[in-house]
Amino acid sequence: MKKILFAASEGVPFIKTGGLADVVGSLPKCFNKDEYDVRVILPKYICISDEWKEKMSYMTHFYMDLAWRSQYVGILEAEYDGVKYYFIDNEFYFAGPRPYGNIYEDIEKFAFFSKAVLSALPIIGFQPDVIHCHDWQTGLIPVFLKADFHENEFFRNMKSIMTIHNLKFQGAWDIRTVRDITGLPAYYFTSDKLEAYGDANYLKGGIVYADAVTTVSNTYAEEIKTPFYGERLEGLMQARANALTGIVNGIDYDVFNPATDPAIPAKYDARTFRKEKIKNKRALQKKLGLEQDDKKFMIGIISRLTDQKGFDLIAYMMDEMCQLDVQFVVLGTGEERYENMFRHFAWKYKDKVSANIYYNEDMSHQVYAACDAFLMPSLFEPCGLSQLMSLRYGTIPIVRETGGLKDTVEPYNEYENTGTGFSFANYNAHEMLRTVQYAMDVFYNRKREWNKLVDRAMAADFSWTVSAKEYEKLYDGLIL
Ligand code: ADP
Repeated sequence: MKKILFAASEGVPFIKTGGLADVVGSLPKCFNKDEYDVRVILPKYICISDEWKEKMSYMTHFYMDLAWRSQYVGILEAEYDGVKYYFIDNEFYFAGPRPYGNIYEDIEKFAFFSKAVLSALPIIGFQPDVIHCHDWQTGLIPVFLKADFHENEFFRNMKSIMTIHNLKFQGAWDIRTVRDITGLPAYYFTSDKLEAYGDANYLKGGIVYADAVTTVSNTYAEEIKTPFYGERLEGLMQARANALTGIVNGIDYDVFNPATDPAIPAKYDARTFRKEKIKNKRALQKKLGLEQDDKKFMIGIISRLTDQKGFDLIAYMMDEMCQLDVQFVVLGTGEERYENMFRHFAWKYKDKVSANIYYNEDMSHQVYAACDAFLMPSLFEPCGLSQLMSLRYGTIPIVRETGGLKDTVEPYNEYENTGTGFSFANYNAHEMLRTVQYAMDVFYNRKREWNKLVDRAMAADFSWTVSAKEYEKLYDGLIL
Protein backbone atom coordinates (compact mmCIF):
# COMPACT_ATOMS: atom_id res chain seq x y z
CA MET A 1 0.00 0.00 0.00
CA LYS A 2 1.39 3.39 -1.00
CA LYS A 3 0.79 6.06 1.58
CA ILE A 4 0.11 9.66 0.60
CA LEU A 5 -0.58 12.66 2.83
CA PHE A 6 -2.29 15.75 1.44
CA ALA A 7 -1.25 18.83 3.41
CA ALA A 8 -3.34 21.91 2.74
CA SER A 9 -4.80 25.03 4.30
CA GLU A 10 -8.40 24.31 3.29
CA GLY A 11 -10.61 21.43 2.17
CA VAL A 12 -14.30 20.85 1.50
CA PRO A 13 -16.53 20.21 3.46
CA PHE A 14 -14.63 21.48 6.51
CA ILE A 15 -13.39 24.85 5.32
CA LYS A 16 -13.40 26.63 1.96
CA THR A 17 -12.35 29.98 0.60
CA GLY A 18 -11.76 28.96 -3.03
CA GLY A 19 -11.09 26.27 -5.59
CA LEU A 20 -8.21 24.78 -3.57
CA ALA A 21 -10.73 23.49 -1.04
CA ASP A 22 -12.73 21.78 -3.79
CA VAL A 23 -9.62 19.96 -5.01
CA VAL A 24 -8.42 18.90 -1.56
CA GLY A 25 -11.93 17.72 -0.66
CA SER A 26 -12.66 15.76 -3.82
CA LEU A 27 -9.41 14.32 -5.18
CA PRO A 28 -8.30 12.06 -2.26
CA LYS A 29 -11.32 9.75 -2.51
CA CYS A 30 -10.72 9.21 -6.23
CA PHE A 31 -7.52 7.17 -5.94
CA ASN A 32 -7.49 3.41 -6.31
CA LYS A 33 -8.16 2.36 -2.72
CA ASP A 34 -6.45 -1.02 -3.11
CA GLU A 35 -3.15 0.64 -3.88
CA TYR A 36 -3.18 4.07 -2.29
CA ASP A 37 -3.95 5.11 1.27
CA VAL A 38 -4.50 8.85 0.86
CA ARG A 39 -5.12 10.96 3.97
CA VAL A 40 -5.51 14.70 4.46
CA ILE A 41 -4.18 17.07 7.11
CA LEU A 42 -5.68 20.53 7.67
CA PRO A 43 -5.56 23.24 10.33
CA LYS A 44 -8.39 23.14 12.83
CA TYR A 45 -9.55 26.73 12.44
CA ILE A 46 -11.85 28.11 15.07
CA CYS A 47 -14.06 29.35 12.23
CA ILE A 48 -14.86 25.81 11.05
CA SER A 49 -18.57 25.36 11.66
CA ASP A 50 -19.72 23.35 14.68
CA GLU A 51 -21.40 20.85 12.40
CA TRP A 52 -17.96 19.70 11.25
CA LYS A 53 -16.09 20.27 14.49
CA GLU A 54 -18.47 17.82 16.15
CA LYS A 55 -17.28 15.11 13.77
CA MET A 56 -13.65 15.46 14.91
CA SER A 57 -12.26 13.52 17.80
CA TYR A 58 -9.20 14.30 19.89
CA MET A 59 -6.24 12.00 19.35
CA THR A 60 -3.35 13.44 21.28
CA HIS A 61 -1.24 16.55 21.79
CA PHE A 62 2.40 17.49 22.29
CA TYR A 63 4.64 20.54 22.44
CA MET A 64 6.82 21.47 19.50
CA ASP A 65 9.80 23.78 19.25
CA LEU A 66 9.42 26.48 16.64
CA ALA A 67 12.67 28.46 16.85
CA TRP A 68 12.72 29.85 20.44
CA ARG A 69 9.03 29.14 21.05
CA SER A 70 7.49 25.99 22.37
CA GLN A 71 3.98 25.57 20.99
CA TYR A 72 1.01 23.35 21.70
CA VAL A 73 0.08 20.98 18.86
CA GLY A 74 -3.24 19.19 19.23
CA ILE A 75 -4.19 16.46 16.79
CA LEU A 76 -7.77 15.55 15.94
CA GLU A 77 -9.12 13.07 13.46
CA ALA A 78 -12.27 12.53 11.45
CA GLU A 79 -13.44 10.29 8.67
CA TYR A 80 -15.45 11.68 5.80
CA ASP A 81 -16.53 10.01 2.56
CA GLY A 82 -14.10 7.17 3.21
CA VAL A 83 -11.11 9.49 3.66
CA LYS A 84 -9.18 9.93 6.88
CA TYR A 85 -8.61 13.55 7.95
CA TYR A 86 -6.25 14.89 10.58
CA PHE A 87 -6.48 18.39 12.04
CA ILE A 88 -3.76 20.41 13.72
CA ASP A 89 -5.11 22.38 16.65
CA ASN A 90 -3.67 25.53 18.15
CA GLU A 91 -6.13 28.22 19.14
CA PHE A 92 -3.54 30.98 19.07
CA TYR A 93 -2.66 30.46 15.42
CA PHE A 94 -6.00 29.26 14.07
CA ALA A 95 -8.28 31.85 15.66
CA GLY A 96 -10.20 34.54 13.79
CA PRO A 97 -13.22 34.66 11.51
CA ARG A 98 -11.41 33.42 8.39
CA PRO A 99 -8.59 30.99 7.57
CA TYR A 100 -6.35 33.78 6.30
CA GLY A 101 -6.16 37.49 6.85
CA ASN A 102 -3.08 39.54 7.57
CA ILE A 103 -0.04 38.18 5.81
CA TYR A 104 2.26 38.94 8.79
CA GLU A 105 0.13 36.59 10.89
CA ASP A 106 -0.35 34.02 8.15
CA ILE A 107 3.41 33.74 7.68
CA GLU A 108 3.85 32.53 11.25
CA LYS A 109 0.61 30.51 11.22
CA PHE A 110 1.69 28.38 8.28
CA ALA A 111 5.29 28.00 9.42
CA PHE A 112 3.77 26.50 12.55
CA PHE A 113 1.35 24.34 10.55
CA SER A 114 4.07 23.07 8.21
CA LYS A 115 6.38 22.02 11.00
CA ALA A 116 3.50 20.60 13.05
CA VAL A 117 2.42 18.39 10.12
CA LEU A 118 5.85 16.74 10.03
CA SER A 119 6.23 16.56 13.81
CA ALA A 120 2.83 14.91 14.18
CA LEU A 121 3.53 12.00 11.85
CA PRO A 122 5.63 9.76 14.13
CA ILE A 123 3.21 10.49 16.96
CA ILE A 124 0.12 9.41 15.05
CA GLY A 125 2.07 6.58 13.44
CA PHE A 126 1.38 7.49 9.84
CA GLN A 127 4.46 7.34 7.63
CA PRO A 128 3.55 8.62 4.17
CA ASP A 129 5.73 7.80 1.16
CA VAL A 130 4.79 11.15 -0.33
CA ILE A 131 3.61 14.38 1.26
CA HIS A 132 1.58 16.22 -1.33
CA CYS A 133 1.71 19.93 -0.48
CA HIS A 134 -0.69 22.54 -1.82
CA ASP A 135 0.14 26.22 -2.34
CA TRP A 136 2.40 28.55 -0.38
CA GLN A 137 0.83 27.77 3.00
CA THR A 138 2.53 24.37 2.90
CA GLY A 139 5.65 25.50 1.02
CA LEU A 140 7.86 25.08 4.08
CA ILE A 141 7.06 21.38 4.41
CA PRO A 142 9.53 20.28 1.69
CA VAL A 143 12.06 22.70 3.23
CA PHE A 144 11.72 21.42 6.81
CA LEU A 145 11.70 17.85 5.51
CA LYS A 146 15.11 18.28 3.88
CA ALA A 147 16.47 20.60 6.55
CA ASP A 148 16.02 18.67 9.80
CA PHE A 149 13.58 15.86 9.49
CA HIS A 150 15.49 13.83 6.91
CA GLU A 151 18.17 13.11 9.51
CA ASN A 152 15.57 11.10 11.38
CA GLU A 153 15.16 7.52 10.11
CA PHE A 154 11.36 7.89 10.07
CA PHE A 155 11.53 10.62 7.40
CA ARG A 156 14.54 9.46 5.42
CA ASN A 157 12.74 8.17 2.31
CA MET A 158 9.81 10.53 2.49
CA LYS A 159 9.24 12.47 -0.74
CA SER A 160 7.33 15.68 -1.32
CA ILE A 161 5.31 17.23 -4.13
CA MET A 162 4.47 20.90 -4.41
CA THR A 163 1.27 21.70 -6.30
CA ILE A 164 0.77 25.28 -7.39
CA HIS A 165 -2.91 26.22 -7.49
CA ASN A 166 -2.15 29.90 -7.98
CA LEU A 167 1.35 31.29 -8.46
CA LYS A 168 0.19 34.79 -7.56
CA PHE A 169 0.09 33.93 -3.87
CA GLN A 170 3.61 33.14 -2.67
CA GLY A 171 3.81 33.88 1.04
CA ALA A 172 6.69 36.34 1.01
CA TRP A 173 7.94 38.21 4.08
CA ASP A 174 11.18 39.71 5.30
CA ILE A 175 14.02 37.29 5.90
CA ARG A 176 14.79 38.40 9.46
CA THR A 177 11.26 37.71 10.64
CA VAL A 178 11.01 34.40 8.82
CA ARG A 179 14.35 33.29 10.27
CA ASP A 180 13.12 34.25 13.71
CA ILE A 181 9.84 32.36 13.20
CA THR A 182 11.21 29.21 11.61
CA GLY A 183 14.61 28.91 13.21
CA LEU A 184 16.04 28.04 9.81
CA PRO A 185 19.71 29.09 9.49
CA ALA A 186 20.98 31.78 7.08
CA TYR A 187 22.05 29.01 4.69
CA TYR A 188 18.45 28.65 3.48
CA PHE A 189 17.93 32.31 2.61
CA THR A 190 19.94 32.65 -0.57
CA SER A 191 18.59 33.19 -4.08
CA ASP A 192 18.93 29.51 -5.02
CA LYS A 193 16.76 28.57 -2.03
CA LEU A 194 14.11 30.60 -0.18
CA GLU A 195 15.16 34.14 -1.03
CA ALA A 196 13.37 36.00 -3.84
CA TYR A 197 13.64 39.74 -4.46
CA GLY A 198 15.01 40.36 -0.98
CA ASP A 199 12.31 38.43 0.90
CA ALA A 200 11.85 34.91 2.16
CA ASN A 201 9.36 33.19 -0.13
CA TYR A 202 7.52 30.10 1.14
CA LEU A 203 6.26 28.96 -2.26
CA LYS A 204 9.72 29.28 -3.74
CA GLY A 205 11.06 27.15 -0.89
CA GLY A 206 8.51 24.48 -1.71
CA ILE A 207 9.28 24.60 -5.42
CA VAL A 208 13.04 24.39 -4.85
CA TYR A 209 12.92 21.58 -2.27
CA ALA A 210 10.04 19.40 -3.47
CA ASP A 211 10.86 16.25 -5.43
CA ALA A 212 8.22 17.13 -8.01
CA VAL A 213 6.26 20.26 -8.82
CA THR A 214 2.86 20.31 -10.44
CA THR A 215 0.33 22.88 -11.40
CA VAL A 216 -3.31 22.50 -12.30
CA SER A 217 -3.32 22.62 -16.10
CA ASN A 218 -0.87 22.08 -18.94
CA THR A 219 -1.28 25.54 -20.38
CA TYR A 220 -0.65 27.20 -17.00
CA ALA A 221 2.46 25.02 -16.57
CA GLU A 222 3.79 26.55 -19.79
CA GLU A 223 2.53 30.08 -19.13
CA ILE A 224 4.27 30.42 -15.77
CA LYS A 225 7.64 30.08 -17.46
CA THR A 226 7.01 33.47 -19.10
CA PRO A 227 7.19 36.92 -17.50
CA PHE A 228 3.51 37.78 -18.06
CA TYR A 229 2.23 34.84 -16.01
CA GLY A 230 5.35 34.00 -14.00
CA GLU A 231 4.66 36.38 -11.09
CA ARG A 232 8.41 37.14 -11.01
CA LEU A 233 9.25 33.45 -10.54
CA GLU A 234 9.41 32.58 -14.27
CA GLY A 235 13.17 32.01 -13.98
CA LEU A 236 12.60 29.51 -11.19
CA MET A 237 9.86 27.79 -13.16
CA GLN A 238 12.21 27.49 -16.13
CA ALA A 239 14.92 26.11 -13.89
CA ARG A 240 12.51 23.51 -12.47
CA ALA A 241 10.96 22.71 -15.87
CA ASN A 242 12.17 19.11 -15.67
CA ALA A 243 10.30 18.55 -12.43
CA LEU A 244 7.20 20.55 -13.45
CA THR A 245 4.06 19.00 -14.92
CA GLY A 246 0.49 20.17 -15.41
CA ILE A 247 -2.39 17.96 -14.24
CA VAL A 248 -5.80 19.44 -14.87
CA ASN A 249 -8.28 19.59 -11.99
CA GLY A 250 -11.53 17.71 -11.92
CA ILE A 251 -14.69 18.30 -9.89
CA ASP A 252 -16.75 16.07 -7.66
CA TYR A 253 -19.31 14.54 -10.02
CA ASP A 254 -21.48 13.45 -7.08
CA VAL A 255 -21.76 16.90 -5.56
CA PHE A 256 -22.10 18.62 -8.93
CA ASN A 257 -24.74 16.52 -10.57
CA PRO A 258 -27.87 18.16 -12.03
CA ALA A 259 -29.68 14.81 -11.92
CA THR A 260 -29.50 14.55 -8.13
CA ASP A 261 -28.58 18.02 -6.86
CA PRO A 262 -30.77 18.73 -3.80
CA ALA A 263 -30.12 22.48 -4.12
CA ILE A 264 -31.83 22.96 -7.48
CA PRO A 265 -35.60 23.12 -8.05
CA ALA A 266 -35.73 20.90 -11.17
CA LYS A 267 -33.36 17.97 -11.71
CA TYR A 268 -32.21 17.11 -15.22
CA ASP A 269 -29.64 15.15 -17.16
CA ALA A 270 -28.23 15.03 -20.67
CA ARG A 271 -31.45 13.45 -21.91
CA THR A 272 -33.98 15.71 -20.19
CA PHE A 273 -32.31 19.11 -20.12
CA ARG A 274 -34.35 20.45 -23.06
CA LYS A 275 -37.52 20.26 -20.99
CA GLU A 276 -36.29 20.48 -17.42
CA LYS A 277 -33.38 22.94 -17.28
CA ILE A 278 -35.70 25.82 -18.17
CA LYS A 279 -37.62 25.28 -14.92
CA ASN A 280 -34.51 26.28 -13.01
CA LYS A 281 -34.32 29.48 -15.04
CA ARG A 282 -37.95 30.26 -14.28
CA ALA A 283 -37.44 29.65 -10.58
CA LEU A 284 -34.35 31.84 -10.45
CA GLN A 285 -35.98 34.69 -12.40
CA LYS A 286 -38.80 34.62 -9.90
CA LYS A 287 -36.52 34.40 -6.86
CA LEU A 288 -34.37 37.31 -8.03
CA GLY A 289 -37.11 39.55 -9.46
CA LEU A 290 -35.83 39.44 -13.01
CA GLU A 291 -38.14 39.64 -15.99
CA GLN A 292 -39.85 36.26 -16.27
CA ASP A 293 -39.21 35.05 -19.74
CA ASP A 294 -38.15 31.52 -20.65
CA LYS A 295 -36.51 32.70 -23.81
CA LYS A 296 -34.13 35.30 -22.35
CA PHE A 297 -30.44 34.57 -22.75
CA MET A 298 -29.28 34.30 -19.14
CA ILE A 299 -25.57 34.70 -18.38
CA GLY A 300 -24.16 33.66 -15.02
CA ILE A 301 -21.07 34.90 -13.19
CA ILE A 302 -19.96 33.14 -10.00
CA SER A 303 -16.61 34.29 -8.78
CA ARG A 304 -14.27 35.96 -6.40
CA LEU A 305 -14.53 39.57 -7.58
CA THR A 306 -10.88 40.28 -8.33
CA ASP A 307 -8.80 41.47 -11.27
CA GLN A 308 -7.65 37.91 -11.96
CA LYS A 309 -11.12 36.98 -13.14
CA GLY A 310 -11.33 39.69 -15.79
CA PHE A 311 -13.73 42.06 -14.05
CA ASP A 312 -12.14 45.14 -15.52
CA LEU A 313 -13.23 43.90 -18.95
CA ILE A 314 -16.73 43.30 -17.61
CA ALA A 315 -16.87 46.68 -15.86
CA TYR A 316 -15.82 48.40 -19.07
CA MET A 317 -18.42 46.59 -21.20
CA MET A 318 -21.27 46.15 -18.76
CA ASP A 319 -23.34 49.10 -20.00
CA GLU A 320 -22.96 47.99 -23.57
CA MET A 321 -23.72 44.35 -22.76
CA CYS A 322 -26.88 45.45 -20.98
CA GLN A 323 -28.16 46.93 -24.24
CA LEU A 324 -28.29 43.36 -25.56
CA ASP A 325 -31.23 41.04 -25.06
CA VAL A 326 -29.70 39.34 -22.02
CA GLN A 327 -29.99 38.80 -18.29
CA PHE A 328 -27.01 38.72 -15.92
CA VAL A 329 -27.01 36.82 -12.65
CA VAL A 330 -23.93 37.61 -10.58
CA LEU A 331 -22.92 35.75 -7.41
CA GLY A 332 -19.70 36.83 -5.80
CA THR A 333 -17.77 38.76 -3.21
CA GLY A 334 -14.43 40.49 -3.31
CA GLU A 335 -13.04 43.88 -4.21
CA GLU A 336 -15.41 46.63 -3.23
CA ARG A 337 -15.19 48.43 -6.56
CA TYR A 338 -16.52 45.34 -8.35
CA GLU A 339 -19.17 44.63 -5.74
CA ASN A 340 -20.41 48.21 -6.16
CA MET A 341 -20.13 48.06 -9.94
CA PHE A 342 -22.58 45.15 -10.01
CA ARG A 343 -24.85 46.79 -7.44
CA HIS A 344 -24.91 49.86 -9.66
CA PHE A 345 -25.88 47.94 -12.80
CA ALA A 346 -28.50 45.94 -10.89
CA TRP A 347 -30.02 49.28 -9.90
CA LYS A 348 -29.75 50.74 -13.39
CA TYR A 349 -31.12 47.66 -15.21
CA LYS A 350 -33.52 46.14 -12.71
CA ASP A 351 -35.05 43.48 -14.95
CA LYS A 352 -31.78 42.53 -16.50
CA VAL A 353 -29.11 42.38 -13.82
CA SER A 354 -29.22 40.64 -10.47
CA ALA A 355 -26.26 41.33 -8.17
CA ASN A 356 -25.94 38.83 -5.35
CA ILE A 357 -23.01 40.03 -3.34
CA TYR A 358 -22.58 37.19 -0.89
CA TYR A 359 -21.21 33.66 -0.70
CA ASN A 360 -23.63 30.76 -0.81
CA GLU A 361 -23.02 27.24 -2.01
CA ASP A 362 -26.67 26.32 -2.74
CA MET A 363 -27.23 29.54 -4.62
CA SER A 364 -24.18 28.80 -6.77
CA HIS A 365 -25.73 25.46 -7.80
CA GLN A 366 -28.98 27.23 -8.65
CA VAL A 367 -27.16 29.70 -10.87
CA TYR A 368 -25.14 26.98 -12.64
CA ALA A 369 -28.40 25.11 -13.26
CA ALA A 370 -30.49 28.09 -14.39
CA CYS A 371 -28.24 29.99 -16.77
CA ASP A 372 -27.73 29.44 -20.48
CA ALA A 373 -24.14 30.67 -20.48
CA PHE A 374 -21.37 31.37 -17.95
CA LEU A 375 -18.96 34.27 -18.39
CA MET A 376 -15.34 33.89 -17.21
CA PRO A 377 -12.95 36.21 -19.08
CA SER A 378 -9.97 35.66 -16.77
CA LEU A 379 -6.71 37.55 -17.06
CA PHE A 380 -5.04 34.35 -15.91
CA GLU A 381 -6.54 31.09 -14.70
CA PRO A 382 -4.40 28.23 -13.30
CA CYS A 383 -7.28 25.80 -13.86
CA GLY A 384 -10.65 27.23 -12.91
CA LEU A 385 -13.42 25.04 -11.60
CA SER A 386 -16.45 27.20 -12.32
CA GLN A 387 -16.30 26.49 -16.05
CA LEU A 388 -16.20 22.74 -15.27
CA MET A 389 -19.26 23.09 -13.06
CA SER A 390 -20.97 25.02 -15.87
CA LEU A 391 -20.21 22.31 -18.41
CA ARG A 392 -21.58 19.70 -16.03
CA TYR A 393 -24.84 21.67 -15.77
CA GLY A 394 -25.10 22.25 -19.52
CA THR A 395 -24.39 25.95 -19.10
CA ILE A 396 -22.15 27.07 -21.93
CA PRO A 397 -18.91 28.73 -20.82
CA ILE A 398 -17.71 31.92 -22.49
CA VAL A 399 -14.05 32.20 -21.54
CA ARG A 400 -10.72 33.73 -22.39
CA GLU A 401 -8.19 31.26 -23.76
CA THR A 402 -5.79 31.15 -20.85
CA GLY A 403 -4.52 28.44 -18.49
CA GLY A 404 -7.07 25.79 -17.59
CA LEU A 405 -9.84 27.60 -19.45
CA LYS A 406 -7.98 26.93 -22.68
CA ASP A 407 -7.48 23.28 -21.74
CA THR A 408 -11.05 22.51 -20.70
CA VAL A 409 -13.33 24.57 -22.95
CA GLU A 410 -13.24 23.56 -26.58
CA PRO A 411 -14.25 26.52 -28.76
CA TYR A 412 -17.41 26.16 -30.82
CA ASN A 413 -16.76 25.49 -34.49
CA GLU A 414 -19.93 26.10 -36.47
CA TYR A 415 -18.56 24.42 -39.59
CA GLU A 416 -17.56 21.17 -37.99
CA ASN A 417 -20.18 21.08 -35.24
CA THR A 418 -17.65 20.70 -32.48
CA GLY A 419 -16.88 22.50 -29.25
CA THR A 420 -18.32 22.98 -25.79
CA GLY A 421 -18.14 26.74 -25.35
CA PHE A 422 -17.08 30.10 -26.71
CA SER A 423 -13.68 31.67 -26.29
CA PHE A 424 -11.51 34.61 -27.28
CA ALA A 425 -7.76 35.00 -27.27
CA ASN A 426 -6.78 38.51 -26.24
CA TYR A 427 -7.45 40.31 -22.99
CA ASN A 428 -9.60 42.86 -24.75
CA ALA A 429 -13.08 44.06 -23.81
CA HIS A 430 -14.32 44.26 -27.41
CA GLU A 431 -13.21 40.70 -28.12
CA MET A 432 -15.17 39.63 -25.08
CA LEU A 433 -18.23 41.59 -26.23
CA ARG A 434 -18.07 40.07 -29.71
CA THR A 435 -17.82 36.60 -28.24
CA VAL A 436 -20.85 37.20 -26.01
CA GLN A 437 -22.76 38.50 -29.05
CA TYR A 438 -21.75 35.44 -31.06
CA ALA A 439 -22.97 33.11 -28.30
CA MET A 440 -26.20 35.08 -28.08
CA ASP A 441 -26.71 34.82 -31.82
CA VAL A 442 -26.37 31.04 -31.73
CA PHE A 443 -28.71 30.88 -28.74
CA TYR A 444 -31.49 32.95 -30.35
CA ASN A 445 -31.13 32.06 -34.01
CA ARG A 446 -29.70 28.55 -34.17
CA LYS A 447 -31.40 26.80 -31.31
CA ARG A 448 -30.67 23.30 -32.57
CA GLU A 449 -26.98 24.14 -32.75
CA TRP A 450 -27.13 25.57 -29.24
CA ASN A 451 -28.74 22.42 -27.90
CA LYS A 452 -26.03 20.33 -29.51
CA LEU A 453 -23.45 22.50 -27.78
CA VAL A 454 -25.22 21.68 -24.52
CA ASP A 455 -25.17 17.97 -25.42
CA ARG A 456 -21.42 18.11 -25.94
CA ALA A 457 -20.83 20.20 -22.81
CA MET A 458 -22.74 17.72 -20.66
CA ALA A 459 -20.93 14.79 -22.27
CA ALA A 460 -17.47 16.20 -21.49
CA ASP A 461 -15.87 14.33 -18.58
CA PHE A 462 -14.11 16.46 -15.98
CA SER A 463 -14.55 14.09 -13.10
CA TRP A 464 -11.30 13.09 -11.37
CA THR A 465 -11.06 9.73 -13.12
CA VAL A 466 -8.35 10.73 -15.57
CA SER A 467 -6.37 13.18 -13.43
CA ALA A 468 -6.28 10.94 -10.35
CA LYS A 469 -4.50 8.35 -12.54
CA GLU A 470 -1.93 10.96 -13.50
CA TYR A 471 -1.23 11.75 -9.86
CA GLU A 472 -0.93 8.02 -9.18
CA LYS A 473 1.72 7.79 -11.91
CA LEU A 474 3.55 10.74 -10.41
CA TYR A 475 3.52 9.13 -6.93
CA ASP A 476 4.72 5.82 -8.37
CA GLY A 477 7.64 7.58 -10.04
CA LEU A 478 8.77 9.07 -6.72
CA ILE A 479 8.33 6.02 -4.54
CA LEU A 480 11.39 3.79 -4.74
P1 ADP B 1 -10.69 30.38 -7.55
O1 ADP B 1 -10.20 29.20 -6.79
O2 ADP B 1 -9.62 31.14 -8.26
O3 ADP B 1 -11.56 31.29 -6.74
P2 ADP B 1 -12.17 28.43 -9.14
O4 ADP B 1 -13.00 28.57 -10.38
O5 ADP B 1 -11.06 27.44 -9.19
O6 ADP B 1 -11.65 29.88 -8.75
O7 ADP B 1 -13.11 28.00 -7.92
C1 ADP B 1 -14.09 28.85 -7.42
C2 ADP B 1 -15.05 28.04 -6.58
O8 ADP B 1 -15.73 28.89 -5.65
C3 ADP B 1 -16.16 27.40 -7.42
O9 ADP B 1 -16.56 26.22 -6.74
C4 ADP B 1 -17.28 28.45 -7.37
O10 ADP B 1 -18.55 27.89 -7.61
C5 ADP B 1 -17.14 28.91 -5.93
N1 ADP B 1 -17.62 30.27 -5.66
C6 ADP B 1 -17.01 31.46 -5.96
N2 ADP B 1 -17.74 32.50 -5.49
C7 ADP B 1 -18.82 31.98 -4.88
C8 ADP B 1 -19.95 32.55 -4.18
N3 ADP B 1 -20.09 33.88 -4.03
N4 ADP B 1 -20.88 31.70 -3.68
C9 ADP B 1 -20.74 30.35 -3.83
N5 ADP B 1 -19.70 29.76 -4.46
C10 ADP B 1 -18.75 30.56 -4.97
